[in-house]
Amino acid sequence: MKNPSQIIKEIKQTLPPYVQLVAVSKFHPASMIEEAYAGGHRMFGESHVQELQQKYEVLPKDIEWHFIGHLQTNKVKYIAPYVRLIHAVDTHKLLEEINKQAQKCNRIIDCLLELHIAQEETKYGFSADEMYNYVKQGEWRQLENVRICGLMCMASNVEDEAQIANEFNQAETLFRRLKQEFFAQQDSFSIRSWGMSDDYPIAVENGSNMIRVGSKIFGPRVY
Ligand SMILES: *Cc1c(COP(=O)(O)O)cnc(C)c1O
Repeated sequence: MKNPSQIIKEIKQTLPPYVQLVAVSKFHPASMIEEAYAGGHRMFGESHVQELQQKYEVLPKDIEWHFIGHLQTNKVKYIAPYVRLIHAVDTHKLLEEINKQAQKCNRIIDCLLELHIAQEETKYGFSADEMYNYVKQGEWRQLENVRICGLMCMASNVEDEAQIANEFNQAETLFRRLKQEFFAQQDSFSIRSWGMSDDYPIAVENGSNMIRVGSKIFGPRVY
C-alpha cells in the first residue's frame, strides 16, 4: 500500500504550481500526519477543535494548521494562537470572535468566507448574494486582527461533473467580482479554496488554487 507521503507527491505532480494542497487529516492519527510530514508536507487541515488541539500539541510546530470545518464561536480561543487559515467563516459574529481572540494573541488571523453553493441543505455558508452584500456593507473593515483572504466552498455531492464545474465556476465568478470591487488593493485576497478528493481536478479547472484532500491521501475515515 502507498503511504500518505507518496500519494501527496503524486497529487502535487498533477497540479499546476500555484495550487496549494491542504492534506485533510481529520479522524486520522498523528502517526499518519508524521509520515506525510517526513516526506516534506507541512499544510494540514482539521475540522474539529479538540482533535486539532491534541494533534497540535504532539506534532512539530512548523506545521501549518488549517481549520476547514464549521467553527463554533466558543471554540475559537483554543486555536487562535496558532491556526494559519480559517476556511469556513460564515457569519459576522464568528469573524468578530476570531478578531477578538486574535487581538489577545497579538496576531492577525487569515480567514476565508464560506460560500454556500451546493444543492444540499446544509446550514452553513453565505449565499452569493448574502456574501456580496456582507462584503459591500463593510462592517468587517473595523476588525483589524483578521484578514479576509478569499473564498471557500464545497460542491454538491453528485456524479454530474458539469454541475460540479458550474458550481465552482459560480464561486470563481463571485471571487473575481469581490476582488475587483473591494479587494483590488489587497494582494492577500487571492485564495480560492475548493476541491476535495472526488472533485479537485474539476475545481482546479474552475479557478481553485487551494484544494483540501483527505481520503485520497489518508484512506477512508473511521468515525
Ligand atoms: C473532510 C473535508 C474535506 C476532505 O474530504 P475528502 O473527500 O476526504 O477529500 C475537505 N473539506 C472539508 C470542509 C471537509 O470537511
